[in-house]
Amino acid sequence: MDQTPQALFNPQAADARVLGVLQPELQDLPELLRTWSKPTPLRVSSGGTTSRAAASGCWSLDLSAHGPGVAWDGSNATVRFGAGCRVGEVLEALVPHQRTIAAGLSGLPGLGYVLTGGMGPLSRRFGLAVDQLKSLNGVWGSGEPFQLERSSHGQTAEWRGLCGAAPFLAVVTEVELATQELQPLWVQQSIGTPHQLADWIESAEHTEAGVSLQWHWDEPDQLRCLQVRCDPAPDHSRIEGLHQLPPLASPPPAQPRLHAEVVGLLGPANAASWRRLLPDLQELMAQRPHPSCTLSAQQLGDATAQIAARETSFVHRDAVWKPWITAVWPAGDADLRHRSLAWLERVWQLMHPVCPGVHLAQLHDHLPFHRDELAQAFGPWLPSLRELKQLRDPRGILPPL
Ligand SMILES: Cc1cc2nc3c(=O)[nH]c(=O)nc-3n(C[C@H](O)[C@H](O)[C@H](O)COP(=O)(O)OP(=O)(O)OC[C@H]3O[C@@H](n4cnc5c(N)ncnc54)[C@H](O)[C@@H]3O)c2cc1C
Repeated sequence: MDQTPQALFNPQAADARVLGVLQPELQDLPELLRTWSKPTPLRVSSGGTTSRAAASGCWSLDLSAHGPGVAWDGSNATVRFGAGCRVGEVLEALVPHQRTIAAGLSGLPGLGYVLTGGMGPLSRRFGLAVDQLKSLNGVWGSGEPFQLERSSHGQTAEWRGLCGAAPFLAVVTEVELATQELQPLWVQQSIGTPHQLADWIESAEHTEAGVSLQWHWDEPDQLRCLQVRCDPAPDHSRIEGLHQLPPLASPPPAQPRLHAEVVGLLGPANAASWRRLLPDLQELMAQRPHPSCTLSAQQLGDATAQIAARETSFVHRDAVWKPWITAVWPAGDADLRHRSLAWLERVWQLMHPVCPGVHLAQLHDHLPFHRDELAQAFGPWLPSLRELKQLRDPRGILPPL
């Protein structure tokens, strides 16, 4: 069962000294989890962007080889896909049916995109990826298999836990999502200065739900902006759907090999506070320890706010902005790693009053701020989530909560 690991997308995961890689057939998964007696937690990979899919001193559970693929169900306009599929493949598979899903900014993430919330340029119109879930199949950390449907289990703690906190509770093998009609979009890519950012944020907070702003601050004096609209507008280019979305940022250079950590924050509409914050943020951007350290954001609200906080583990339903801070260092450079992570924490601290929530898209149980991050991600739901973990993953086979 232990095989050579597949090439991992995330360089930090790829460079980890893992104890071994497990690539079980899906039917063997319950037995594997039930009887696992080697070091825990297992690091799970669905084969997408692979952050924490492998870690030194841990075993990796690689689901990418035996996932069930993509299946469109025209009878109820849903799509099923499993571990091993990337969001981009799902989007492409739906194009012939003139359908799409609430995908993110990149087609590269896999099932983890859905399980951790899943937000993208159409979130204001259609909601988060977890809001589209119709059913979930998988195996709890205890080894017990499950098949849950929103129609019968949508009010249970189990359903709520899996919608946004699944990586702590279960290995999900397949999801079924509602789809939306594929419609053309209009996009505008532009470059601006930090001084313009407050105006962009203020005007974005007043646009209708069919418009979203995402920005990427990658030079002290320069930001990239990507506006996506559901209706035509001057100076915007037409694309046929999210499968043709241009990138917000250029990919990081392959050499030197870079490692990174990303913390995602969540905050309500608050353009005035953003404006007050900008001079200090600009100073921190000028002090970046590495040129690939960046700050970016995507816009939420409207449809994402229509779901009650108690329904999913994504509790920050008032969030309108999801900024994410990326700390980067050359692989093996312990000093720069230390300085980059310290920089990330300074930016986070500065932004905390404006963005008090966390979007837990990447796990950081190896970093000192993991517990704070959990508290800020799950808020008052965290104690019940921990009880659920005790019930469904009592031996801590999956990452700690
Ligand atoms: C280039 C890029 C663009 C992104 N854009 C967006 C975006 O626009 N919107 C957004 O919301 N997020 C975005 N993300 C974040 C991304 O969705 C999360 O990091 C997500 O966890 C990635 O999941 P994965 O399946 O690709 O990776 P994986 O390595 O397979 O999974 C990452 C983590 O998720 C957990 N996990 C994965 N599969 C399973 C499973 N089957 N069962 C249980 N747990 C599992 C594991 O704990 C694993 O450590 C982006 C990330 C990158 C790198």
